[in-house]
Amino acid sequence: MGMTMTQKILAAHAGLDEVCAGQLIEAKLDIVMANDITGPMALPIFKEMAENVFDKDKVVFVPDHFTPNKDIKSAENSKAIREFAKEQELKWYFEQGKSGVEHAILPEAGVVAAGECIIGADSHTCTYGALGAFSTGVGTTDIATGMATGELWFKVPGAIKFELIGKPAPYVSGKDIILHIIGQIGVDGALYKSMEFVGEGIANLSMDDRFTMANMAIEAGAKNGIFPVDDKVKEYLKAHCKKEYQIYEADEDAQYDEVLTIDLSQVRPTVAFPHLPGNAKTIDEIEAMEPIKIDQVVIGSCTNGRMEDMRKAAAILKGRTVHKDVRVMVVPATQKIYKQCIHEGLMDIFIDAGCAVNTPSCGPCMGGHMGVMAAGEKCVSTTNRNFVGRMGHVDSLIYLASPEIAAASAIAGYIANPEKVGEKS
Ligand code: SF4
Repeated sequence: MGMTMTQKILAAHAGLDEVCAGQLIEAKLDIVMANDITGPMALPIFKEMAENVFDKDKVVFVPDHFTPNKDIKSAENSKAIREFAKEQELKWYFEQGKSGVEHAILPEAGVVAAGECIIGADSHTCTYGALGAFSTGVGTTDIATGMATGELWFKVPGAIKFELIGKPAPYVSGKDIILHIIGQIGVDGALYKSMEFVGEGIANLSMDDRFTMANMAIEAGAKNGIFPVDDKVKEYLKAHCKKEYQIYEADEDAQYDEVLTIDLSQVRPTVAFPHLPGNAKTIDEIEAMEPIKIDQVVIGSCTNGRMEDMRKAAAILKGRTVHKDVRVMVVPATQKIYKQCIHEGLMDIFIDAGCAVNTPSCGPCMGGHMGVMAAGEKCVSTTNRNFVGRMGHVDSLIYLASPEIAAASAIAGYIANPEKVGEKS
């Protein structure tokens, strides 16, 4: 029986010729990753199982959630993984100042590659599917097991095939497309399945678009999201990664639970309203409503803190000023992106517009620090979750959007259409 991309990767890592949806397998792991929240929780479990990690080059720690440390507890957590990484002589430990948000830094630093089987103690580990890898989020017990043994059991997921056709219009990017898809299938629409993106429309998506889309596969309940390895992925890997990699393609007769066609040319700038990423509304629907006044804008995170996101936000903010009632946090996702923003003059644009530019960190995304919301406040955010209380007070409201919508809204003071920003400034 034919296999999907994900099933091919899992079969290879389990040493099997064939796997099928629902089958339980034990697969070898290429990368095991944890952060400053999940890493310290995994360490005591790991220490009950082993003295040393299975491979010093394959266990990765990224202190990104509460760093630079916001309080004593977070400082102790970072210290625990820092000391463990040193003691175990791990190749990949990303210290502040040389780091970034985990799902941006791992591809950028060449830690992850096509065809790999990757687990991370963070739900948005599915991001690396943009590179044609199987990557998924797991809990701390699983991560400890992975660190100790280099293997983990999986239930092989079934798949939904998303056939992408057409070309997105200006002001429509990966964020709009994935919000459109989650709006269509719902937040449990791909529960424990792979979202496999295929079709000629993929050629019209940048790598940053694909990272954003794979990142949010979990918001539809998916086990993973995955893209084929085309020329853009090969170029990306050539520029970032020194590892050998393997390309897996779905079989012609692969079985899918569903096949959906998405015409990218029909996707409109889209916003997910509180409190679920599936509450998607097009900018046209929003413009027909009373203006939704906002208090804060966040441009950053593992979803939309990459270079292309910074450029798109800056193109809208250039020569304009943030609305007097709005505060804007710009958080480039990695140190390299931060520096590139300086080189390209984007920092001047952000600062002159009245934005606060913060050091690479998860920061406000999960209400950690650098932009926590008060009761009743509304935020347009380029992050990936708008659950109750995600960015602060349980009575705050989060609207998920692209960097272009976020920037346009920052100027307008309400959720605004980036296509019309020239008219409104
Ligand atoms: Fe999680 Fe947000 Fe950090 Fe991404 S930026 S890893 S979603 S906390």
